Amino acid sequence: MLVERFDFLELLRLAIAQGVAEGKNISKDVVLGEMALLSRPAHLWSTLLLEKVDFERIAIITPPQKQTRTFYSRYDFNYQYERRIEDVPGKVEFVHGPIKSANFFRVRNQLAFMIHQEMIKNNFKPNNAQGDLSHIAKGIAEVVLRGHLFVKAMCGYCCGLGKLELFKASQHIGQKLCEKCQGTGKRPYTLNEKITIAKLNVTKSGYSERYAKYELLGESIVAQWENEIRGRLKRSFYFEVDCPEQQECLT
Ligand SMILES: [Zn+2]
Repeated sequence: MLVERFDFLELLRLAIAQGVAEGKNISKDVVLGEMALLSRPAHLWSTLLLEKVDFERIAIITPPQKQTRTFYSRYDFNYQYERRIEDVPGKVEFVHGPIKSANFFRVRNQLAFMIHQEMIKNNFKPNNAQGDLSHIAKGIAEVVLRGHLFVKAMCGYCCGLGKLELFKASQHIGQKLCEKCQGTGKRPYTLNEKITIAKLNVTKSGYSERYAKYELLGESIVAQWENEIRGRLKRSFYFEVDCPEQQECLT
């Protein structure tokens, strides 16, 4: 199996980074022009893929603290006094706040809407009723999108390459997809992390049994958007000639 090493989504980013380039096959205006023709959800997703989605950085500042110690007189034990000693040094810690991008939440709501509809269709009853279903759909949509947008960590098995080189008696015999990360090169979120992100009140087995299928649905929707983006961008490279007269002119 041949795996496309250079993905169209990467190309999308590159083309935007290149800006308006003369004499180049693909440049920012070509890509933006094609993107404008996408369906609304796919267009939103392509915009989000180009954006640097990040968490808000929150600084937690602990100011230095004054300290004193009680000293006793060596000669008179009834005599004691407080003396100021060195301060406990202050510190600044940075923690992840919420996601900043408004586009992220637009896409999340779009995806959640589709998941929500499927839940209604299936008459889905959550394990613990926490508000209405749309909150659960939003949580699951967030799990799906985060998996695509943030690299939690590199897959240690394939060192982030997504594939493994096969050797037999120090002879290179081919490649295979890394099964640990399914060729993504990223370490996926664990079940516990997914449950926390989605703010669900379920056990791991409860999630796998009843919620995971909606996560899969979300994945398939994102895959459809990406296929649409790929298809659209491919048109900038290849064109088909279906009119026989034109074909004659070209040959
Ligand atoms: Zn891997």
